[in-house]
Amino acid sequence: NMDLSKFVPLTHQAAGHPDLFESEDSALFAKLTNRKEIDFYTKLNSHVAEDKPLGSSLIDWVPQFMGVLTPGISPDLKSQGAPVAAELEKKASEQPNSEKEYVLLENLLFGFSQPSVLDIKLGVKLYDDDATDDKKERLGKVSDSTTSGSLGFRICGMDIRKTGKEVHEKWTDYVTTYQDADKIEYIKFDKWFGRALDEDTVLEGLDLFFHHNELPEELRNIILSNTETRLQLLYNCLLEEEVRVISGSLLIIFENDSARWKKKDNQDSLVFQREIYDDDQDEEDQNDPDDENLLRENCPLSKLALVDFAHSTFVPGQKYDENLVDGLESLLQQISHLKDNEHR
Ligand code: ADP
Ligand code: MN
Repeated sequence: NMDLSKFVPLTHQAAGHPDLFESEDSALFAKLTNRKEIDFYTKLNSHVAEDKPLGSSLIDWVPQFMGVLTPGISPDLKSQGAPVAAELEKKASEQPNSEKEYVLLENLLFGFSQPSVLDIKLGVKLYDDDATDDKKERLGKVSDSTTSGSLGFRICGMDIRKTGKEVHEKWTDYVTTYQDADKIEYIKFDKWFGRALDEDTVLEGLDLFFHHNELPEELRNIILSNTETRLQLLYNCLLEEEVRVISGSLLIIFENDSARWKKKDNQDSLVFQREIYDDDQDEEDQNDPDDENLLRENCPLSKLALVDFAHSTFVPGQKYDENLVDGLESLLQQISHLKDNEHR
């Protein structure tokens, strides 16, 4: 099912830099990145323990790593017999610095018909030790002046479905609207939205994400409580991982199309099983549209993932990442406040 011949700009991008793409069939995600992120994904995929329960390894919480695209024909892709991703390759070769590479990942939005996407950056410390003094100073200030500093996490941006109800006028400076290919309307909250929130108002931001939509109460409760459980599972998992993830993001995604919920009888699995890409699949199976539709339908209704490893490393023997884990714990607290508020 991998047609790499054409990539288009990513439809739903909650935060981050430009230069994000998805394949036309929306199965793949591509982002211009650095060596560090590619090394991190490579290492993460090199020691997969198959016997561990689903959700207890970091790899269960990150998008599947599909390869790297560099200027020139990528050996990885060539060996899979896939057509060259011409546009990306051209773009990569136009970079002044030819070390620029695209990381190819599973598109976390594959299968969603009307996704809401939230990007939350974890950690008080936002810069790498090898950052320039300028960058350290700049990011130090960002942390000090936002909930990154006070709470250890910050909303970086979010895209939600536009509903009949306007968002509060105090947020209008931070929002724009856009449409997807099916003319469904979304509201995008920019990075200044999350920076404007403080310890006391961050809950309003989270509330907007989880509750400003047209889903029935029952489904909202499922989404929020599954999000909480996933955060707890990820928390436990990260206590066992010897990594340093600076400036990593949590992506929280859920489906707004109630027809998709109905089709799956509201069954929303906690941790997503990776069955989208199977290397062992027979050639002849590959472009079967029935298979593809089945894959799309079986995709989760909501999910949580950790992304953005451009400043991440493995630190064997150095225990868990306090900066990351503390941020996650603090977010968990806010999510449980939000749940309590629901039952007022
Ligand atoms: P940056 O380095 O630009 O911050 P990120 O890795 O944080 O890049 O990603 C930026 C945005 O791209 C995220 O906010 C999210 O909306 C989207 N994104 C990231 N990874 C994926 C993925 N695997 N699938 C779909 N969307 C993604
Ligand atoms: Mn990011």
